[in-house]
Order: sequence, then C-alpha cells, then structure tokens
Amino acid sequence: MKLNEYDIQFVKGVGEKKARLFNKLGVYSLENLVHYYPRKYLDQSSTVSVVDAPTDQAVSIRATMITPVRENRIRKGLTLYKCNFSDGETVIHVTIFNNEYLAKALRTYDEYILYGKVEKRFTDAVMSSPQIESIKTGMAIHPIYPATQNLNSKAIAKAVRGAFDKIGVFEDTLSDEIRKKYDLCTLDFALKEIHFPSCGENIEIARKRLIFEELLTLQLGLMLLKGKRSERNNHLIKADYTDEFYSLLPFEPTHAQKRCINDCICDMRSSHTMNRLIQGDVGSGKTAVAGAVIHTVIKNGYQAAMMAPTEILATQHYESFKRLFYGTPINLALLTGSTKASEKKKIKSQLIDGEIDFVIGTHALIQNDVEFANLGLVCTDEQHRFGVEQRADLAMKGNHPHLLVMSATPIPRTLGLIIYGELDISVLDELPPNRQEIRTDYVNSSYHERIYRFIKKALDNGRQAYIVCSLIDEGEGELLAAEEYAKTLCENEFCDYTLGLLHGKMKPKQKDEIMHRFASGEIQILVSTTVIEVGVDVPNATIMLIENADRFGLSQLHQLRGRVGRGKEKSYCILVSDNQSEQTKERLGVMKSTSNGFKIAEYDLKTRGPGDFFGKKQHGLPNLKIADMVEDIQTLNLCRKCAEEMLKTDRRLDNYPLLCDKINDMFKRTDY
Ligand code: ADP
Ligand code: MG
Repeated sequence: MKLNEYDIQFVKGVGEKKARLFNKLGVYSLENLVHYYPRKYLDQSSTVSVVDAPTDQAVSIRATMITPVRENRIRKGLTLYKCNFSDGETVIHVTIFNNEYLAKALRTYDEYILYGKVEKRFTDAVMSSPQIESIKTGMAIHPIYPATQNLNSKAIAKAVRGAFDKIGVFEDTLSDEIRKKYDLCTLDFALKEIHFPSCGENIEIARKRLIFEELLTLQLGLMLLKGKRSERNNHLIKADYTDEFYSLLPFEPTHAQKRCINDCICDMRSSHTMNRLIQGDVGSGKTAVAGAVIHTVIKNGYQAAMMAPTEILATQHYESFKRLFYGTPINLALLTGSTKASEKKKIKSQLIDGEIDFVIGTHALIQNDVEFANLGLVCTDEQHRFGVEQRADLAMKGNHPHLLVMSATPIPRTLGLIIYGELDISVLDELPPNRQEIRTDYVNSSYHERIYRFIKKALDNGRQAYIVCSLIDEGEGELLAAEEYAKTLCENEFCDYTLGLLHGKMKPKQKDEIMHRFASGEIQILVSTTVIEVGVDVPNATIMLIENADRFGLSQLHQLRGRVGRGKEKSYCILVSDNQSEQTKERLGVMKSTSNGFKIAEYDLKTRGPGDFFGKKQHGLPNLKIADMVEDIQTLNLCRKCAEEMLKTDRRLDNYPLLCDKINDMFKRTDY
C-alpha cells in the first residue's frame, strides 16, 4: 500500500466530512497522518498522592471509589454527580457535571486514575470534573495533537490508531546497516512510540530516528537536485566579455567582484551547467557581478533573465541596467505583475522571437506561459525569499540554463552548506572602497527630539532619510501605525519637508511611484514598514531610523541598515527601543559593535531572537515537521555525511525506493 496515495477519508472513523477538517491541518493521506506528530504529551503514567499534589497544575491520582454516585439535579440541563474516592490516605470529593455516561460507568471499590487539579480543603480534597479513566487505560502517556475547530486531539489520536490498524507494520526506509551505524530504532517503532509512547524514554528514541530521517530526506533531496542540475552545459560560453563590461561601469570593480565574476565565467565555460550562489553582505556590489555575467552571456548569443522578490527591486534593477547598457545593442525589458496586459503580450512574443536579450521581473516571470528563444542564464536576486521549488522552476525554463543566485542573507557556513546544498558558493567578502563605516546608535524614545533635529540638519544639507516603524508582521494595526506616524511627522516636526509613505498593502504601482520619487530626491523622508528591507539602493540616503528596533531580528536590522552607507557621505543608523530587558540591550549592542553581517548572523543564530531567518522562513526550504535546523544542527551534519555516503554507492538511490517517495513528497515535485 502506498501511504501517500491512500486518502485519509477511508481511514476507519474518518469519512468525508472529517477528512476535510484533516485537510485543514495539511493532512490528506495516510502518510501525512502518521507524520502528524503530537505537540506534547499528557503524562498520566506517573501518579502522585493527594498530600504531595501541587494545587496549581493538573496531576494524575490513583484512587479507589469509596461511595456510590449520588445524582443531584440542580435545574433543567444541569445535573451534578458526586462521589468519593480515596488514595489510601486522603478522601477526594469528586464532582462530575452532566456526564451521565461516565457516572453510570463508575463502580464502587474499583480503582481509577483521576486527572485534573486538586483543591485541598482541611483534611480532604476536591476535584471538579477530573478526567476519570480505568486503571487499565489510565496509566498511559497520551498524545496531544495540534487540533483545529471541530477536530480535537482525541479524534486525531483515534484516526492515527485507525491508520496503524490499517497499515500493520511499517516497512523501513533505511537499511539495517545505516540504522546500526547511526544508532537508530526502526521506523515502525519510532512511529508507534511517537504517537502512543509506552514510556518517556521511548519518545526520545523515536524522536531521534524521525529527526534523522527528516533531515536525511532534506539532504538527499538537495543533493539529488544538485546532481540533476549539473548536467551537460548546453550554453557554452566561448568568449569572455568582462573587460568590455568593466568599461561600462562608473567604478573599478573590487577584487572580490572580479573573483566572483571569474568563478561564474569558468563555470559556464566548463562542461557542466553553472549553479552558483554569490553570497555577499549588503552593499558589497552583487548587482555589478550579475551585470557582468549577464553581459557576457548575452554577448555569446543567449538570452538572460533576472528575477527579484519585489516589484520595487525588479524596477530598480531594470532602471539601473537600462542606464548601464545604454548605447549598447542589448535589448532589455521589465516584466512584473503590474505590466499592462498588452505590453506583457508584446514582451512575451519578443522573448520567444529572441528580440529581447534580457528580461527583468518578479515571480510573474516564472508563470508557465513565458517562453524563451534561447535562455542561457537565470539570475535570482535576494534568493532567500525564493523557495527551492521556485529555483528549480526557473532552472527548468528552456534547456537547462545556467543559474546564478545572489543572497545578502549572511548564513553561518555550516548552515549555508546545507541550505544551499545544491549550489556552489562564491563569497563577495570585500566592500567597495571609500565606503565609510555606518555609525550605529542605540537609544530610547526620549531621544526623539534630538534625532529629529539631527535628521533635519541632514535634509537641509541635501541628504535623505528612512524611518522604519513596523511590527514583525504586516498586519492592519501596523499599517495604521505607519500611516499615523507619517501623518504626525508630516504635520509637526517635518512640516517643511516632503515625506513619503511606503507599506506592503500598497498597490505595486503606488509603491513604485513613491520609490521613484524617493530615488529622484523629491521625497526627502521615506516612512516605511519593512518593505524596503531588500535591495533598494538610494546612495543619497544617509540616515536610517528604526523605531521599536527590539522587534526585529538582528539579520533583518542588518539588512535595513544596509540601505544607508551606499554613497560617499557619512551614514547613520539609529535604533530606538524602550525595551529594558537585558537581552534587548545585548542584541542591540551587537548591532552597534559590528557591521559584519556574518558575525551578526552567528549571534542571531546562537540567541535565536525573534524574527531570525529560520523563524521567518527566509531560507526557502521545505517545511520541517519534527526537526529543527538550529537545535538539531549536529544531526544535520551527521545526515549530510550519511547522504554523501549513500549517494556515492547508489547515485539515484535505486536501493531506497521508499526514501525516494519521501524526498519527492517533501519537495512536492517529481520533475527536478
Ligand atoms: P548589494 O550587494 O547590496 O546588492 P549593490 O549591487 O546594490 O549592492 O551595490 C551597492 C552600491 O555600491 C551601488 O550604489 C553600486 O553602484 C556601488 N558599487 C558596487 N560596486 C562598486 C565598486 N566596485 N566601487 C564603487 N561602488 C560600487
Ligand atoms: Mg542587491
């Protein structure tokens, strides 16, 4: 039986209606159900005596019923059942509300497990509506599942039991050899114990196996992806035109830029397709690297595509490449969600005809109906916003084009190797010269007046400023906060200046317009939520004021700070927070003390502050059900080794068909 093809509605006791509720939890198949793990457990296996029972939490008490049930009809619809139990020392007065079924089932002098809170009254104790279970089923560890409306944890547990009955014994995904080597229990044991543990230790043994399996699946998936992609080079680069590109640049490229560009050119001249990640801190000049590679690809007769996560960014890239390639025969176009339909149609047909050499756009680009005459290179900017699936989508365009991925999210090396498992990495580790260090200050809100004065002075000198005010998520409330704040500033402190407001709920057209006016210098202060986080480049902006800075992850703050310090002028980043906690002080202190994105990421990772890249799902990897990239980093490293060993002897995992199914399931696609 293929578990992933077996619909949940046919599990005993589920049916069509419940199946829909399960779907809400992301559970569609038997496979999903058995991997729908309990969030925690209710441990009724260890009981306490009433004397020792704390009164502020639920406990299990083993007790004998010593009086028959008395029925007490209070009014219509409310019947109380009362009876007494004893744990051998203390009498427990139990009240049951309205549960006739339970009351009738209780037998005097039988032993039960009572689970609930104990109230102590003199020498006696009271429990109101405890869970009462017979000694046989009561002495267990019960799974508690994340539930949804009309589908509670008990119903889920029942369905899981139903699934187990149906399946019988789980066939193992791993060989005995691997299980022995990495000290793992069988899959059958792991699944059964994770759902219905017979003791606390077994939960840990089961977790170990399931975490290993999940991370191994992830690793294998990424490695297979890489293996499939590095196919024969269909777009051989014969000549290197980088010198010609350098003459177009208004600056001399840094050594690091030249090295990264060279890595790419070498890849594309080799017998394999390029799969390369350029990892560089904010402001390190990734755009120029991409430009050089794109330029050479086009000069060799191929088309190139560049994909950005936001319209603002796509538009900005388009504008700067238009300027850069002005006077060259390179024909470029912008394709985003807000491109007019007629224009889109035209661009699409010109892409098929090969009239357009270079297209820049947002996700709209990966819609199926965009076709190319001869796509040689796909480049994605700020790639952490894209999933691996999207990366793969792009790579499937045309005839296996080269892939260049750019990311400013500094990720510690160990994790980088895993997250970008399918890519080769070049690090852009040098900032362009004459860049001044950004001065970072961390103050509380009593400094606002001084800060505003400081901003005004900069504006009077012709500079521009960003003010970021934002909660972690872009909700309605936050939007109001930004609007309100902009309005107050507009009417008071900055009434003589031009302000613009930018937030995520604006139409792309509006956003573009505001961004344009800011880039052209017309808008002097941009009040914004975090939409400016990625990639926006306005060298004349020299102040970044961030309100409630403690609400951001450090990596995010670092990205925001990277919006300034892009020109010749001295730049400032001011972090405002009234949060007095030691943790906040330390975290914001780190921002002040270093401008090295990788160091900041290491710290962020260690302390796991809110909004870190894993919490915010900025890594673009499939969702994990039981493993945690940070907590389970050691297992992750083991799995990496294990995956490498497996693929060395069995390149396509022919000996592991079950594992292959899991990989396909995890990555939701079979056509990488
Ligand atoms: P990021 O790596 O964050 O994408 P950008 O590519 O936007 O950085 O570059 C940041 C700024 O630095 C831009 O204004 C760009 O023109 C400038 N720049 C890039 N490379 C150099 C260089 N070698 N010398 C001087 N300025 C450069
Ligand atoms: Mg950039």
